[in-house]
Amino acid sequence: MTSFTNLTGAAEIGANCYLIKIGASSIVLDAGVHPKKVGNEAKPRLDLLEEEELQAIMITHAHLDHIGALPVLQEKHPRAEVIMTQATAEVGRVMLHNSVNVMMSQRMFDGVAEYPFFSHGELDHAANNWVTRPYEKPFRIGRSGEVLATLYDAGHILGSCGVLLETQAGMRIFYTGDVQFENQSIIPGAAFPEEGVDVLIMECTHGATERSVNYTREREMNRFAKAIRETLQSGGAALIPVFALGKTQELLYELGKMRDSGRIPDVPIYSGGLGAKVTAVYDRMTYDTPRLQPGFTLRGSVETAPLPRDMEEPLRASPGNIYMVSSGMMSPHTLSNKLAAQVLPHPADAILFVGYSDPESPAARIKAAQPGELVRLGKDAEAGQAYPVQCRVESFDFSGHASRAALLDYARRLSPREIVLVHGDEPARQQMRDELVRYMPAQVRITLPEPGRRCRLSC
Ligand SMILES: [Zn+2]
Ligand SMILES: [Zn+2]
Repeated sequence: MTSFTNLTGAAEIGANCYLIKIGASSIVLDAGVHPKKVGNEAKPRLDLLEEEELQAIMITHAHLDHIGALPVLQEKHPRAEVIMTQATAEVGRVMLHNSVNVMMSQRMFDGVAEYPFFSHGELDHAANNWVTRPYEKPFRIGRSGEVLATLYDAGHILGSCGVLLETQAGMRIFYTGDVQFENQSIIPGAAFPEEGVDVLIMECTHGATERSVNYTREREMNRFAKAIRETLQSGGAALIPVFALGKTQELLYELGKMRDSGRIPDVPIYSGGLGAKVTAVYDRMTYDTPRLQPGFTLRGSVETAPLPRDMEEPLRASPGNIYMVSSGMMSPHTLSNKLAAQVLPHPADAILFVGYSDPESPAARIKAAQPGELVRLGKDAEAGQAYPVQCRVESFDFSGHASRAALLDYARRLSPREIVLVHGDEPARQQMRDELVRYMPAQVRITLPEPGRRCRLSC
């Protein structure tokens, strides 16, 4: 029997972690932490793995909602083989070392006693045991090597992959991880298997997002350039909250191009911190990973203004500058959150959103606010000081995740027997299921796996 257990704490985009049992083998896909929760609540349900002897842990990419709990899981299952791409291993080290620093400061300032989950030394030790694999080269995992695994380029961020698992009976299970089928600016779209999959485990971040039929990335980029240009020309500052891994690099490339071509004024772009460390890995691997412009390096082409170090003067949003800083969801204590407090009351300034925000994040609150409305920037809608939304607020779709239509198209082309929906807020998963029921043949089973409950897969 083949089974699937959703180990995320709740049905949402949280701490991604899934157990697949195939024959005598137990394999975990991803080991993330919840982006918004703090302390033990941020971990996936690792307690449900206590009775298991894991043979393999496969990590699809280095965003913390997929890799953040990996050293914790490794400590409990030291004999499990840990597999990812080379690029994920390199970026993963950067992300997890930064996560140790963040956890240490949360211990110090917020009194989170269980932090850090691991030290820098423990992380180095764990990372020394990671095994890296290239795309599209099958290898054996599981007890006695009974499962054949292959990684496929997921087009989401540097190093991201989907995982194909093939049982001895020839049944094929494919987990998309986070996927983008369209080309971004640096990273080409996914190269996924197009046939022969029995069970598709699919992310559905954008399951409830309606995209305009006129959407093209280029058109969206032009609208973005116009918003920046108008803001700077009217004496404002442009704040672009971004994720350090992925969005920072993709948009830095575009901002550099816009500045070079004169589509936006030649002004300083403030960017740095964790984003700059990740950029260094993107640049170092420019010839070793799929690229739209092999050989291109961001640091060789796009000059940025550095962010102040901790303890120095806090950053002030000054007219005529671009601030592309993390976090993308404006989580409390991050630079984008601090700058939002300065920018919100100024009509000449702008906040330009460029990606997904958790519905309860400060970013989502600002997106949903009417002009002039008061919003708070704390951990929930009641926390922190209130600021009036006087600045320009716009949202742009440069997502690293596939649109609903692209996910539906892929599912239809692949025509599996069963589709398991993961990595989506509840409305996204529900709507994705409804669409799949409408567009897939009636016999296709669609599963929304409840957290903590084991379900049998149709293979
Ligand atoms: Zn991701
Ligand atoms: Zn994710």
